[in-house]
Amino acid sequence: MHCPSVEPRRSLYFDYQVYPAFTAGVGAAAIRREALVVVGAGPIGLTAALELARYGIPSVVLEAEQQVSEGSRAIVFTRRSLEILQQVGVADRVTQAGLAWRFGNSFYRNQRVFRMEAPHDDNDRFPPMTNLQQPCLEHELVLAAQANPLIELRWGNKVVDVRQAGDHAWLEVDTPAGPYALESAWVIAADGARSGLRSLLGLKLEGAAYEGRFVIADIRIKLDLPTERLAYFDPPWNPGNTVLMHREPGDIWRIDYQLPAHETPEQALSPESLRERIDAQLALMGMQDRSWELDWSSVYAARALTLPEYIHGRVVFAGDAAHLLPIFGVRGANTGFQDVSDLCWKLALQVKGLAGPALLPSYSQERVGAAREIIQEAGKSTRFMTPPSTGQRLLRDAVLSLSLSQAFVRPLYHWRTSRPHDYCDSPLNCRDDDDHLFSQGPRVGAPLQNLRLGEDDYLFDHLGAAFHLLCFTDADELPKDVQAQVARLQEQGIPLRVITLGEQAAVKGADLSLDDRSGRLRELYGVPVGGAYLARPDQHVCARWQGLSGAALAAAVHRALGNH
Ligand SMILES: Cc1cc2nc3c(=O)[nH]c(=O)nc-3n(C[C@H](O)[C@H](O)[C@H](O)COP(=O)(O)OP(=O)(O)OC[C@H]3O[C@@H](n4cnc5c(N)ncnc54)[C@H](O)[C@@H]3O)c2cc1C
Repeated sequence: MHCPSVEPRRSLYFDYQVYPAFTAGVGAAAIRREALVVVGAGPIGLTAALELARYGIPSVVLEAEQQVSEGSRAIVFTRRSLEILQQVGVADRVTQAGLAWRFGNSFYRNQRVFRMEAPHDDNDRFPPMTNLQQPCLEHELVLAAQANPLIELRWGNKVVDVRQAGDHAWLEVDTPAGPYALESAWVIAADGARSGLRSLLGLKLEGAAYEGRFVIADIRIKLDLPTERLAYFDPPWNPGNTVLMHREPGDIWRIDYQLPAHETPEQALSPESLRERIDAQLALMGMQDRSWELDWSSVYAARALTLPEYIHGRVVFAGDAAHLLPIFGVRGANTGFQDVSDLCWKLALQVKGLAGPALLPSYSQERVGAAREIIQEAGKSTRFMTPPSTGQRLLRDAVLSLSLSQAFVRPLYHWRTSRPHDYCDSPLNCRDDDDHLFSQGPRVGAPLQNLRLGEDDYLFDHLGAAFHLLCFTDADELPKDVQAQVARLQEQGIPLRVITLGEQAAVKGADLSLDDRSGRLRELYGVPVGGAYLARPDQHVCARWQGLSGAALAAAVHRALGNH
């Protein structure tokens, strides 16, 4: 019998709530068939359920535990993640509760040698990075899921077996009252790094594990420092190694330091060892007089692994269940949000019978491709932080010592952080549009670029769970053939909205007309009057034209639905 702990976890900044276990399925006479089951109510599983609900797809979320996750874990959320969270309705709460930042400082032996500035544009609603502890984010997602009539969240329900059965998967679920079975046409496996579903299906991750191990310690301390990332290379108290620091809400600071090679995790997490090292780091910063209290500590090793395919029969993998990425560069949860943003519209159209044969498989193509790119980039930063060989250590140390006197090597300190991926090779992209004629604006495969429309008004605030045709026009009516084609697609049930940007306050044939009398928005998108962009429901551009016809639109939508 599966009996998760009902003792609230301890935290200095978060009140854990224990939710009642769902046991109503135990002893049911017949096996229930659900449209969609999500396994795991971590950030990725909950976001998946909320995304599916936007498309009108109900889901059952099975979560082994009866409370949200322990410790701060993922603490840095990127702008793209906030844009995805905006669509599921929790970005405002995350922004209010979190700490925005855009600067990073790198120190070598306590001398600052590099200051990173993450790009930020007046057209962006969200800052480049927002710090918030993972349980706080999960809490917001739980509230949103509980308020959504299309989501049934079952706490204390652990999936212990899975079998593929043609047009559905069969799951055995264990609960504090005993097991029950259910069936589902599709299962999203968002059951985390140690995914039981991955093991039950006999799947293996591919990639590399790095040798360096790190302690994560969250402490409560008052430090009068701005919210900026701090990275210390080769500090005198931890020679040859690296220390990272991040500010979290509630006067919590994360100190993340590399362990000497010979030390065991048990030794590293002993109270004496933690106190000695944290005190040494505070002394390095001239803050030795501050008192502090430990909230949570853990040890992790950087791994860069992915499944080579995310769809296995009726089970689709996302988040840490699909890939394990080094947390330097904040790649863990941020990559998972992009997985579900890519997956859920495709799965929704599949369930509704609107998907062509290539639509769902494109999830695996696009996201495995993204994971492989991340693994390559993450490998570079991980090798810089924890050089795996003598040669690489020599090279890294040369960069570090040269940086004291030579400015040109300092940018080498800057490891790339998680970024949205451009699906340039996606099979869903239009093949004969005018992408090659554009010199500006988001290219085909990239996510749309947000645009400021007013004081507190941005383009992304107006996007929903649909394809969007952005037409840049000064006319008061869309071309007749475009209007007719849009109507035809909508009659088939394809979610498609038309937004015009131009001189007219209301354009016939548009669902929404945005004011661009100055031509500023058109210029940012590098498009002439009469041009248009087609974006998929996950906001990635799949076609753009300098002049649009109904036939070109129909062909692009047909292809973006996986019909080729
Ligand atoms: C110690 C630590 C520190 C981290 N620090 C960072 C960081 O600083 N930055 C960063 O970006 N990322 C960090 N991460 C990674 C980040 O936490 C993950 O990328 C993120 O949680 C992935 O979300 P997920 O929903 O895919 O998986 P998880 O958050 O792991 O959620 C999986 C959920 O599935 C549930 N579950 C598991 N098995 C079953 C089952 N059989 N049946 C039902 N439910 C099940 C689990 O209880 C859990 O709630 C850290 C992770 C750890 C462990």
